[in-house]
Formats: sequence, C-alpha cells, structure tokens
Amino acid sequence: MPNDAPPGSPEKILILGGTKEAAELARELVAKGLDVTTSLAGRTREPAPLDGKVRIGGFGGAEGLAAYLTAEGFTRVIDATHPFARTISANAVKACEIAARPLDIRTRAPWQKQPGDIWIEVPTLEDAAAALPANTRVLLALGRQYLDAFSARSDCHFVIRMVDPPESPLAFASHTILTAKPSPNPDEEAALLRTHAITHLVCRNSGGDGAYAKIVAARTMGLPVVMVGR
Ligand code: NAP
Repeated sequence: MPNDAPPGSPEKILILGGTKEAAELARELVAKGLDVTTSLAGRTREPAPLDGKVRIGGFGGAEGLAAYLTAEGFTRVIDATHPFARTISANAVKACEIAARPLDIRTRAPWQKQPGDIWIEVPTLEDAAAALPANTRVLLALGRQYLDAFSARSDCHFVIRMVDPPESPLAFASHTILTAKPSPNPDEEAALLRTHAITHLVCRNSGGDGAYAKIVAARTMGLPVVMVGR
C-alpha cells in the first residue's frame, strides 16, 4: 500500500547523491533535524560515511524511483548527483512528475575558463583523445568507464587517476595507475603533475570545487587541459 505523507507532515527528503555536495547537503539537513536519506548508485566500493540514512543501488528506472518515493513516503527529492550522471537526473524529473513530489535540482554549474587557462574544449571523449598531440604524458582524471576512448593512443603515456583500482587490466600500451582521490590543494596537484612529468590533462567539465585544484595547478604551470564539455 502506498504510504503517502499527508499534507503538513514533517519533511522526508531523498537526496540523489554520490557527490561531495550531496554529502554536505545531507550533513546540513540532518543537523536541522530533518529526515534525510541519501541514495547512492553503488559504484564506489567503500563510500565515505554519510549523515542520515543511506540506501544503495538503482531503482529500476523512473517508474521504480516513483514507486519508491510513494512507498517510502518521501515528501521531497533533491538531485545532487554529478552533472554527467544524466540518466538518474532525467529519471528524477520523470519520477517526481509521476509521484507528484517536488524536485530541487542542485547539480553543479560548469567551470568557467579563467585568464591563464589553456583549455582545448571538446564535446566528447573521442574528440579529447584525438586532440592529444603525439608523445605526450597525459593525466586522465576520468572514471574507469570513460577510459576506452584513449586506449588506441599508443603514442602517449597515460597517468590514470582512479578512486578504486581497476577490476581488470587496462588496454593501454603505456600507462601508470594512481589509486587516489583528487587533492583539494593546488600545490599538491602541481607536485603530482611534476612528479609524473605531465604535459596535458584530460578531464570533464564537472564544476564544483572538489576536483578544481588540478585546473588551478595546470593554469599555474601553463599546462593545456583537454576539457570535455557537457
Ligand atoms: P547515470 O548514468 O545517470 O545513471 C545510471 C543508472 O544508475 C540510473 O539509471 C540508476 O539506475 C542508477 N543511479 C545513478 N545514480 C544513482 C543514485 N544516486 N542512486 C540510485 N541509483 C542511481 O549515473 P552515473 O553517471 O553512472 O553515476 C552514478 C552515481 O555516481 C551518481 O550518483 C553520481 O552522482 C555519481 N557520480 C558520477 C560521476 C560521473 O562522472 N558520472 C562522477 C562522480 C560521481 P536505475 O535506473 O536502476 O534507477
């Protein structure tokens, strides 16, 4: 039986998360005494602890999410997912329509190019791979699922930073894996770029401050950034 919250009942909020901003929002709302559940897709093996309740795994499309909202009596949904997580954001719009729940969209705005930035702006990962000059040393600051486009570039060395180590060997002719999260400190990011003699960065225009330090480091060092747009 549906468990619709009656009008005027306390808020019960579902945050679609998986980002630093979603974790901050959960902390803020829980501190205000609100009933908050964060939903994670389950991509990260050991997600950082979150304030409030947590549920993990897909809902089964927009209809599944709508059914979950109704069954659990959520009164509001906040989409704080990563800006490149487009399917879940589209599902949230549709699910909130079906379940007649308000949706707050809090996805990050893209970074804007600043004076000193050397950006090669491209629309796709394939264009990013094609934009790399031969014989370069490239930091790929991309998730595992976005690497395939670069594997044909056997003339480049790739330094691949990922949160979890890959489950199967990567098909790169020449690469180094760094199992690490990005540092929020531009000096630390600059040190990493120097240590690996990086000549080019590749990243997606995710926005936010959590992964911005590498952009600042590249600007300071005069390194080009191949920036995949939204
Ligand atoms: P996506 O392509 O938009 O979503 C694919 C499917 O994964 C969705 O249809 C949904 O499955 C499930 N899903 C996604 N986010 C979910 C969530 N927060 N809670 C429950 N199910 C979710 O998403 P994605 O790009 O794979 O990203 C997955 C998660 O990682 C998101 O939470 C996102 O915020 C986070 N993240 C993504 C990126 C990125 O670069 N894309 C970067 C950092 C963090 P069902 O249809 O079965 O519901």
